[in-house]
Order: sequence, then structure tokens, then C-alpha cells
Amino acid sequence: MRILVTGGAGFLGSHLCDRLIGQGHDVICLDNFFTGRKANIQHLVGNPRFELVRHDIIDAFKFEVDRIYNLACPASPPHYQYNPIKTMKTSVMGSINCLGLAKRVKARVFQASTSEVYGDPAVHPQQESYWGNVNPIGLRSCYDEGKRCAETLFFDYHREHGVDIRVIRIFNTYGPRMLADDGRVVSNFIVQALQGNDLTVYGDGSQTRSFCFVDDLVEGFLRFMEQEKCVGPMNLGNPGEFTMLQLAELVLKKVGGKSRITHKPLPSDDPKQRRPDITLAKETLGWEPQIPLEAGLEKTISYFREALAK
Ligand code: NAD
Ligand code: UDP
Repeated sequence: MRILVTGGAGFLGSHLCDRLIGQGHDVICLDNFFTGRKANIQHLVGNPRFELVRHDIIDAFKFEVDRIYNLACPASPPHYQYNPIKTMKTSVMGSINCLGLAKRVKARVFQASTSEVYGDPAVHPQQESYWGNVNPIGLRSCYDEGKRCAETLFFDYHREHGVDIRVIRIFNTYGPRMLADDGRVVSNFIVQALQGNDLTVYGDGSQTRSFCFVDDLVEGFLRFMEQEKCVGPMNLGNPGEFTMLQLAELVLKKVGGKSRITHKPLPSDDPKQRRPDITLAKETLGWEPQIPLEAGLEKTISYFREALAK
């Protein structure tokens, strides 16, 4: 198949491009390089089945493709809050452009939605049927509401125009190729520990997240895209739940060294708890994460050790 991956030079997108090329598909990677890097896909450049296009998804584009994976959107809070109006445009206008293209060329289109659509959830763990608890006017709203609007657009194009959609809700995912200055918690803690700096736990560190290793997530993407039973929304993530203090202690144990834990103010609207109910993914895809947090952290620590030494 010919497959378009928007945001293909980013953390998740570049791993997805690797898998799709490995499966023998032709891949067009579209990216504006806001948080993506050429280094993430450098090894694919020159492969006759890989094309790289510098483009912003808020502007229209046209490719003859069979599949569209829409991943373009900054995912880390400091990056998506850097230019919140642009973040909203990326989710909304980018989705409209992907859906319009899918409609025209009859492609199947996949949306990388997020656990952030649940906001600061009042229901725990989160099932797909939960509508969420989201502040519409806060600092995180450009991302949360942008992704919620994108979901609405996907389901309206599906109902109104019969577009073949797949909507996945991704819970915190980590692994090699995250940016060292990405701002998300796993990369922050690992880089801080490797550089001998103190680990910055925001608030008292009792808030929880569930962390999925990138290889597990991308396997879920591929299975979800190529099945016919369910258009979503479907949660994908690792149900293991940890407080940020537990994560910091685990990273310190794995990296060693002299770093300690320091506390910084909790950002506004920071969700207190998050854990996916993955029953739907298990039943529909036969999928569940294979890589526990400790093993995934070891791989990610090795990656950053090498990357920081360059
Ligand atoms: P990332 O920031 O590494 O990747 C995003 C990519 O999109 C980057 O390459 C960036 O340059 C590109 N991009 C951003 N705006 C664009 C635009 N207007 N036009 C073209 N390209 C643009 O983040 P990631 O972790 O790889 O996330 C990928 C997708 O998955 C995002 O849509 C994100 O919202 C979603 N997601 C990720 C996680 C996670 O934990 N990693 C969780 C939930 C949802
Ligand atoms: N966090 C932290 N220290 C950091 C970065 C983040 O304690 O250096 C916390 C943050 O407040 C949140 C959790 O870790 O409670 C996950 O943050 P991240 O930005 O990775 O993802 P999100 O909040 O979008 O789930």
C-alpha cells in the first residue's frame, strides 16, 4: 500500500514509518519539523519506498494514498503551549485536510487522539465510554479541546460521508527518539539523571500516569488500522499505573549517580490520575503491552546515554 504518515519525523511517527517500510509499504512522511527531526528518519532517506515532504498540515495537500495516519501535532505540554492557537489549528484544520483527502481518494484515515480527551478524569480507570472532564479555557485546552474537536470531525466525516476512520486514544508513551528537551516526564527524568541534575517532580508527585513503551504502541496502531470490526475510539496504553515519585525513584535506581528528587510547582489542570481500561483493545485486536516499565526504561536510558554523548 501507499501510506501517508503526518508527523512522521516525530517520536511516534518515525517508529511507525520504520514498521511500515519493514512491512514492504511505500511511505510518504509529511512533517513541518516543529518537534520532529530529520535525524529520526535519516536512515530511511534514500530508500526508494520512502519519501519525505516538508509541509504543514494546516495547508491543503494531495497524495494518492490507501492509508493516512494523522500524527501531526506537538504532544508535550511545553511544546503544545508554546503557540496554542497553532496547536488548535493543527488538530482542527489538519484533521479536516486529512479527512478531505481520505474522502477524495477513498483512503482509510487514522487519528492519533489522546487520553487528554478525558481531562482530569472523574472515572478511573478510563473506559472509552467516559466523556471526560476537560477545562475548555485553560492552558492545556488548546491540545485537549483540539483533539476532542478532531474526534468530532472524524466521526462526522464517517457518518456524513462514509469516510473509513480509525480513532485511537493514546496514553503516555515513551521510548527512544523522544527529544532530550521534550519536556515530558520520562525524558526529563532520564536526561536529568544522566546529567547528574536533580529530578524535577511537579507537585507532591502523587499524581499517576500509565506508561507504554513505543514498540508496544506501534504494534497496536498497525493491528487497529488493519481490522474491520471497530472504528474506535479505542484506548491504547499500558495499564500499569505509577505515581511520578515512583517513576523518579525507578529512574534514579536504573541510572545510578548522585541525583536527588526536587519538587517544582504543579502545572495548572495537571490530571491527578490516569490509567487506560484496555479491554476493548484486548478483545478486538488481541493486543496488550509486552514491555514492562523497567525494561522499557532500560532501553530508553541506553538511547539517551548514547544520544547525550554525541
Ligand atoms: P512529537 O512531537 O514527537 O511528534 C509530532 C510530529 O508532528 C513532529 O514531527 C512535528 O514536527 C509534527 N508536526 C507538528 N505540527 C505539525 C503541523 N502543523 N504540520 C506538520 N507536522 C506537524 O510527538 P509524538 O509523541 O510522536 O506524538 C505523535 C502524535 O501522537 C501526536 O498527534 C500526539 O498528540 C499523539 N499522542 C502522543 C502521545 C505520547 O505519549 N507520545 C500520547 C497521546 C497522543
Ligand atoms: N512531570 C513531572 N516532572 C517533569 C515533567 C512532568 O513531575 O519534569 C509530571 C507532570 O506534572 C504530570 C506527569 O509528570 O503530572 C506527566 O507529564 P507529561 O508532561 O509527561 O504528560 P501529561 O501531563 O501530558 O500526561
